[in-house]
Amino acid sequence: MVKHEFQTEVNDLLNLMIHSLYSNKEIFLRELISNASDALDKLNYLCLTDEKYKSINYTPKISLSINKDAKTLTISDTGIGMDENDLINNLGTIARSGTKGFLSSMSGDAKKDSSLIGQFGVGFYSAFMVANKIDVISRKALSDKAYKWSSDAKSYDIEEASKDGFGTDIVLHLSDDEFNDDFRIESIVKKYSNHIPYPIFMYKNEWIEPKEGEKEGHNEIKNSQINKASALWRLPKSSLKDSDYNEFYKQISHDSSDPLFHIHTKAEGKIEYTTLFYVPSVEPFDLFRVDYQSGVKLYVKRVFITDDAKELLPPYLRFVRGVMDVEDLPLNVSREILQENRILATVKDQSVKKILTELEKMLNNDREKYMKFYSLFGKVLKEGLYGFSANKDELLNLCLFKSSLKDGFISLKEYKANMQKDQKSIYYISGKNEAMLRNSPLLESFKKQGIEVLICDEEIDTIVMPMVYEFDKTPIKAINNSDINDEIKNDEKIDETAHAGLIVKIKEALKDEVKDVKLSNRLSDSAACLIYDKNDPDYAMQMMFKQMGQEAPSVKPILEINPNHQIFTKLEANELMVNDISNLLLNMAKISEGIPVENPTEFAKKLTNIMIKAL
Ligand code: ADP
Ligand code: MG
Repeated sequence: MVKHEFQTEVNDLLNLMIHSLYSNKEIFLRELISNASDALDKLNYLCLTDEKYKSINYTPKISLSINKDAKTLTISDTGIGMDENDLINNLGTIARSGTKGFLSSMSGDAKKDSSLIGQFGVGFYSAFMVANKIDVISRKALSDKAYKWSSDAKSYDIEEASKDGFGTDIVLHLSDDEFNDDFRIESIVKKYSNHIPYPIFMYKNEWIEPKEGEKEGHNEIKNSQINKASALWRLPKSSLKDSDYNEFYKQISHDSSDPLFHIHTKAEGKIEYTTLFYVPSVEPFDLFRVDYQSGVKLYVKRVFITDDAKELLPPYLRFVRGVMDVEDLPLNVSREILQENRILATVKDQSVKKILTELEKMLNNDREKYMKFYSLFGKVLKEGLYGFSANKDELLNLCLFKSSLKDGFISLKEYKANMQKDQKSIYYISGKNEAMLRNSPLLESFKKQGIEVLICDEEIDTIVMPMVYEFDKTPIKAINNSDINDEIKNDEKIDETAHAGLIVKIKEALKDEVKDVKLSNRLSDSAACLIYDKNDPDYAMQMMFKQMGQEAPSVKPILEINPNHQIFTKLEANELMVNDISNLLLNMAKISEGIPVENPTEFAKKLTNIMIKAL
């Protein structure tokens, strides 16, 4: 017998399991059955694809039994099993990097935290919530040696053992009497594991009524299947209730809340497949992690192939959970095949289209539900607008925006319906701070004309909005761009020549800081504003590049001045202070766009000078 210490992270985790997470203990069984099912999947796959395993007599099943007197619950499977190394690596360490994040993301709220357990893939250790000692007896397929792993949650021992047949027996020495009960265990299995594709048997004591001639009845141990063991996605829609769908979702997602909705599709025809997709009602913990787990499992003719294929759906749909079961693929699909297979590519395309179509239906028919969806995953969807990705039009249909004219969110379709007769483009303003955007001088002429402007205050907007050039044949344009200069309506014509002299002087004063100085037709109240030349990245975009560690060319803005503003007419009469005033105008325009003033001390000095003069 060799004693082993747990990896530090495992110790931390076990402490947490035992001392803090107690609100939802029953999920330990879901976790152990899900592991057993994974182990059966793995052996099933090898038996079908690998010559070496073809001789194995494989009868996939999971068995549960309770020994009331000994207070043990045993979960057995006939799956792939583990050898000594597997036991050490799988049940003594936490392998996945994402999992280590589990500990740091614990909120301290026991209920929330325990619902995270499954998601983080630390399922096995959750058994210590209900057991003070666990024995794992396992024999790996094709091996003639078996091992026993034993632990009291402080350290673990491994020794050789004997075991008939391949697979794993997990013996829980229950610390909690609640689970020393057939009925309780059976009901937990039905709740979480009804649609595991393998049969789950339970050995139960059953009371047998006395037969004729017998005086008393007696107890008998009976072995019966307690789950449906059907691949739920293969059942006809008409036979499934919402509760069936929700239960299955919880099983595959390890999420304990009901999903927002599901999409069940059976495609017959040239390419046959079945898909069942879910959109969760809570944000998956790793949604914004680079190493997020794919939520979609790939099956070929009901045989589980992988749950680690991020290419099954585009990254902007990474919140989707579910199953893709394809008929005409070889079972031994490799990574390369996954990426290049034509059939799979078609299934993927059609699946994406289907999901987007269903979302659009929801947007049109159930706005409230759609808002719930959008507030959770709208940001992720918008990532799909990046670059030249497919389905951009469909995605644009699904995007919602804040509006300069009303509260709440509008779609681009709604925007278009509200456009003025001669309005040429869809206008937006983007930046970090909603209040600042709403008060930007750039909006003045739009407000005056009653033209709607989209208020894009999400970080992702800064990157993707310049990449969506049009929606339904209408150009989409930023209002801080010189591109729209001749689209802006103004009652008063600007007389360019009249002020030419002063403009030259301001230009000279600011020549290192701005690309150009121009008279503006965008302003009514403010004295000046900043815009950017047609193909130049604006300030928010430049900051984005910087954040991503990219060298962005430093681009100078264009200063636009309101020719009807008093300050301008006064300056024309008295050009003595033109240098200081120009500088102040530029910096004020910067401040109103949330751009930091480069030299605040000098700015303050100049402002003070002017104040003194004014007094
Ligand atoms: P996860 O299932 O997310 O990988 P777990 O903590 O539930 O994390 O399990 C850890 C690992 O232990 C599994 O990945 C698997 O390799 C191994 N394991 C657990 N239970 C079994 C089992 N019944 N048969 C074979 N391997 C198992
Ligand atoms: Mg697991």
